[in-house]
Amino acid sequence: MAAARAAGRDPAALTLLAVSKTQPQAAIREALAAGQRRFGENRVQEAAAKFPALRADYPDLRLHLIGRLQTNKARDAVRLFDVIESLDRPNLADALDAAMAREGRRPDLLVEVNLGDEPQKSGVAREAADGFIAACQARFGAALVGVMGIPPLEADPAPYFAWLAACARRHRLGVISMGMSADFEAAIAAGATEIRLGAAIFGARPAAA
Ligand SMILES: *Cc1c(COP(=O)(O)O)cnc(C)c1O
Repeated sequence: MAAARAAGRDPAALTLLAVSKTQPQAAIREALAAGQRRFGENRVQEAAAKFPALRADYPDLRLHLIGRLQTNKARDAVRLFDVIESLDRPNLADALDAAMAREGRRPDLLVEVNLGDEPQKSGVAREAADGFIAACQARFGAALVGVMGIPPLEADPAPYFAWLAACARRHRLGVISMGMSADFEAAIAAGATEIRLGAAIFGARPAAA
């Protein structure tokens, strides 16, 4: 990828997540046919409707949950997703721990940080992030693989991306999921290991989404 090379980064070290929320199965099948294997969805129910059939045809598909997870859907999420990027509060950690024990399945986990401390957004507050990440590492061990974040809409994203990358380094976490269609180049320059692209891959979503 040009943006990775421009930032002096190895494109092979960068994971591209195709964000397929609101996209029909046909669009996802096109991406699969083109070789894409990692997809991100923000709702458990929507993913449950679309992905089991796709997984049957593409067993190497990897599905990431990138949206807020309610504790009562933790068990469905553990069953369905390979990576859960929205671990952001202690009661969700409890629910995921219990669900993983019951299902005998351990998805990779990322702690989501609310980079702009915006009340309407999910994610653990920045000042609570270190403590929460340490607690999750103690509890989940190697299943806790990284951090995820979304900078505030109107701001220069660079300092927020730099903060998240430094946070990952402090905790020796390898996965840094940051950067969307509008700001992935800045995210790559700041050290993203995974970018999450929806519109840039599938085109604009319907306004309702
Ligand atoms: C929708 C979404 C994306 C993709 O957004 P685009 O602007 O379409 O690239 C990435 N991350 C999260 C958490 C999302 O909800």
